[in-house]
Amino acid sequence: MKAEALFWQQCSQAVTADGSVDAQRLMELVIATYRVHESDYDQIERSAETLLKENQALRGNMSALSQAFDGQQRLFEIILNNLPLGLSVFDADQRLTLSNIRFGQLFGLTQDDMTPGATIDDLIDKMRGAEGTSARPGRRAGRHSSAAANSSSIRRREWLMDDGRIIQSMVTILADGSNIAIHADISEDREAAERITFLAHHDPLTGLPNRIHFRQQVDAALAARKPDEQIALVHLNLDRFKSINNMMGVSAGDKILQQVAERIRASAGSENTLARLGSDEFAILQTGRQQPWNVTALAEQIRRELSDLFRHGEKQVELSVSMGIAVAPGDGEETDILLKHAGVALSHAKADGRKRERFFAGEMEAQMQLRHALEADLRAAVEKEEFELHYQPLYDLSQRRICGFEALIRWNHPIRGRVAPMDFIPLAEEVGLIVDIGRWVLRRACNDAAEWPEDIKVAVNVSAMQFSSSDLTRDVGEALAAASLSPSRLELEITESVLMENLSEVLPILHALKERDIRISMDDFGTGYSSLSYLSSFPFDKIKIDKSFVNDIANNKEAHAIMHAIILLGDALGMRVTVEGVETAAQLALLECEECDEIQGYHISPPRPVRDVPHLLSLPENGGETQIPRR
Ligand code: C2E
Ligand code: MG
Ligand code: MG
Repeated sequence: MKAEALFWQQCSQAVTADGSVDAQRLMELVIATYRVHESDYDQIERSAETLLKENQALRGNMSALSQAFDGQQRLFEIILNNLPLGLSVFDADQRLTLSNIRFGQLFGLTQDDMTPGATIDDLIDKMRGAEGTSARPGRRAGRHSSAAANSSSIRRREWLMDDGRIIQSMVTILADGSNIAIHADISEDREAAERITFLAHHDPLTGLPNRIHFRQQVDAALAARKPDEQIALVHLNLDRFKSINNMMGVSAGDKILQQVAERIRASAGSENTLARLGSDEFAILQTGRQQPWNVTALAEQIRRELSDLFRHGEKQVELSVSMGIAVAPGDGEETDILLKHAGVALSHAKADGRKRERFFAGEMEAQMQLRHALEADLRAAVEKEEFELHYQPLYDLSQRRICGFEALIRWNHPIRGRVAPMDFIPLAEEVGLIVDIGRWVLRRACNDAAEWPEDIKVAVNVSAMQFSSSDLTRDVGEALAAASLSPSRLELEITESVLMENLSEVLPILHALKERDIRISMDDFGTGYSSLSYLSSFPFDKIKIDKSFVNDIANNKEAHAIMHAIILLGDALGMRVTVEGVETAAQLALLECEECDEIQGYHISPPRPVRDVPHLLSLPENGGETQIPRR
């Protein structure tokens, strides 16, 4: 309250009832007011002092804050310019307000180009590249963001630079139209992503499409097939490729597979689709052609291409291929069915002796099912040891006595009954079970022979796969040791097919076995194409002339002449000669005249269970069931 108004108020309070001013009362009022003001003044003085002090403290804080701000600014600049990402901020007029060094580097812009105030369009004109096509339209920012952020949107843009780099920008557009963007060089990521996609659809070794990609290609071809169009699917499998891997090592095998892929690619040409389905499996899709002629021509072309030797360093490898062919729509109109039928046809090509192509036929499936059932049974038989060995005498003609026995396997199936070796050995070879079966035969034959007189040998048949897929020398050594049988009492019989599979792999094993005093016989001589040439490749102890040569010798001069020549050949090479399949006395008499060393056949005895061996050995001159006539 102003002093004048206050004094007026004090005077009116000092007026007495008669209207005069009570001077005493007025003095008191004025003095009271002075006292109040005096205490206020002290208070104000104290407050002013405090204010002064606080003001000084504030000044101190202000300078500290300003120093801190400068520090923050410097830190911000360091961070900004050392970010591995480019950063740009444009205002609502699309003018640059902030950017970092990386931004300029990514887009090839100079410091001058990036002066604040430059427009987006200016910068786009100056950068060395152009916007790519894969930019995505904006999407709303996260739902949980604040109201302000809620009204912003994020947009991805991609730039293809002149030097091939790909720059990706993530632009956050704010509600007021300004934007903040970060920019990154994604060239390496993109390359890696493309590589991953490629690898997911291609085989890394050959670069060919893989099974997944091939299925997609077959799907597409079938979907696009015109009503009168045929589509052939060829499923190829290299014959016995595993032995190449075993013999030469996996990396050499890989190199050869690359050469194989190259040759198949050359045969298939660019108009057909080629894929690698698995280790040594390939497939070709042939569309829009006259079938089956074109696919037959293609198969022949592939066979020709693969018939030349493959080279790896100094080594040369011979390869052959089996093919199964299914043609849509006749053999199926769906990818799965077509692939399955080509696979079934391939299995038939393999079972028919490999090195050939087979077209799918309806009855193949039923046969395949039977084969699968047999295979399952065979696997179980190995576990349950449902096998038995029968022994057929080898008869020495000059000594007129049994000099050994050939072990011949029998499979006693609980339901099928006795299964002959020719009905399961080829399957066992194909599916690899022969390795386990062969090991069992070796052990059992050696054990049985250990019970026989010292001068009686045992002959065991050995399949090609036992050379390529197991350590035959070790298996033989273990079987002999377990039975305590002298190695010189064991003969191993191999057929021409063993040598054909891979001579250079088999020969060192044969030599190693021979060095251990084990005898090696060439079985079924004369049934193959090049028995003669193989005779010179290894010093066999014995050749066993196939039974097909003996059939007619008694009444066919030519057959007799051939037999005569083979026996002479064996003599000349210093190899014992055994004639198989001798069924009659007449045949035996003739062979005696030819000075054949040994015979084997029903005339002496059919294969017998092991328990019959002592009986066979005890027969007079152990001439077997039929007495051998004297010369
Ligand atoms: P192989 O080694 O040539 O055996 C001779 C085959 O001729 C045997 O057939 C035998 O029973 C038969 N045979 C013997 N004498 C006569 C005869 O006078 N006339 C006729 N027509 N046949 C006679 P099997 O026992 O059926 O064996 C067939 C083939 O199975 C064998 O031919 C051999 O290649 C194979 N094999 C048998 N056992 C084994 C084995 O343990 N391992 C392997 N890998 N193969 C085996
Ligand atoms: Mg044999
Ligand atoms: Mg034979």
